[in-house]
Amino acid sequence: MISALTRFATIICLAFIGAYIVSENWGNAWSIAVGIAIVSVPLLYSYINLARLRKHTLDDSVENMSLPSGYWEEIFFRLQRLLRNLKLKIRTIEQQHDHFIEAFQASPNGIVMLDENDQIEWCNAIAERFFGLNFKRDVMQRINFLIRRPEFVQYLVKRTFDEPLLLERMGADSSLSLMLQAFPFGQNRHLLLVQDITDLQKADAMRRDFVANVSHEMRTPITVLMGFLETVQSLDLDKAQQEQYFELMMSQAKRMKSLVEDLLTLANLEANSLPASMAPIKIETVMALLKNDAQALSEDKHTLNFECLAPNDLLGDEREVLSAFSNLVSNAIRYTPDIGSIQATWNVNAEGQGEFAVSDTGPGIAAEHLSRLTERFYRVDRSRSRDTGGTGLGLAIVKHIANRHQAQLLIESTPGKGSTFMLRFPKERVGA
Ligand code: ADP
Repeated sequence: MISALTRFATIICLAFIGAYIVSENWGNAWSIAVGIAIVSVPLLYSYINLARLRKHTLDDSVENMSLPSGYWEEIFFRLQRLLRNLKLKIRTIEQQHDHFIEAFQASPNGIVMLDENDQIEWCNAIAERFFGLNFKRDVMQRINFLIRRPEFVQYLVKRTFDEPLLLERMGADSSLSLMLQAFPFGQNRHLLLVQDITDLQKADAMRRDFVANVSHEMRTPITVLMGFLETVQSLDLDKAQQEQYFELMMSQAKRMKSLVEDLLTLANLEANSLPASMAPIKIETVMALLKNDAQALSEDKHTLNFECLAPNDLLGDEREVLSAFSNLVSNAIRYTPDIGSIQATWNVNAEGQGEFAVSDTGPGIAAEHLSRLTERFYRVDRSRSRDTGGTGLGLAIVKHIANRHQAQLLIESTPGKGSTFMLRFPKERVGA
């Protein structure tokens, strides 16, 4: 490329040569005019290109500008390339920025970025929900003006962020428990990470309740058993009396055994999160087994009616299905007073769903208890349940088995008249 100085020198030389040639032939006045004309041509050309450049800069269309020839072509070309590269870099940075924002938004935790004055620079949607913030409205507001909980304000003031802070009764309906921790970054800025631990806390409370319940349930028969043992040891009992005490001890031991068995069944069901198998189960055989057990349990005190209204098999885990069905039947017998009647049926409804239903003419259950019946150790009448040998885990087991078979447990009951417990299986689990 020819340098600018060479170009300038060439034009000046051309002007002088032109002026000299003209002055030889037409005199000085013409020679000056020709000299100026020769210098003006590149000046005019430069001016036109400058004007074009100005226009395209104003329109923000420098990239689309057509290229002139000569010296200006190189300037315009380089300018366009510079602009294109800059825009590409900006777009890449914007994309990276968007990806970061998307990643932060996808986080299940609340994220708030604070500047050195604890003003909100950015926060994600989860943090907005946790603290009732609105990023557009609250950006660059001091966070302690927006989250006014004293423990949080103190946490910020103390500036020792080694430990997380537990904030309870948060969220729009004060139902959230949040674990918050600040992490310093950059120059005296902070990142707040906020985790919703409501479910964890509930699970923890449930676990504690469960352990307390199990201990309580176990302690009662153990205490009774020890009482009987002491009596047998300390008193001089005859053979008949001893027999009587041994029988009482045996019934307490059996109660503990059923409790442990039910606990193990529940633990096994909970450990297995996969759906139950799809093995065909001969319902007629199941119904016959149920009827046999029911007769033994009822000791002819109830009218029993077991009917298979559809021939279709059920597809599932036979052991589990039998356990769920017999829990419902045994409840019906245990809670229905003598001379009452119990009906168990298997049918396939109009939508092709399989329905196993057990109806009894027992005491029925008041509506307020219905939603809680499947909770572990929930009993409507504690002493009645214990008297009949109940562990309080039967319906919890039924519910788990139902879930593993994608079935619903439906309960209808009228106090004083009786109850119907139904397991409704999806049509995919009804065989030929
Ligand atoms: P339990 O071992 O105490 O029977 P379940 O989990 O099987 O425990 O049942 C929970 C509670 O539901 C029982 O304590 C009882 O109060 C009530 N219940 C269950 N089935 C019936 C029924 N057929 N009639 C009346 N109450 C029932």
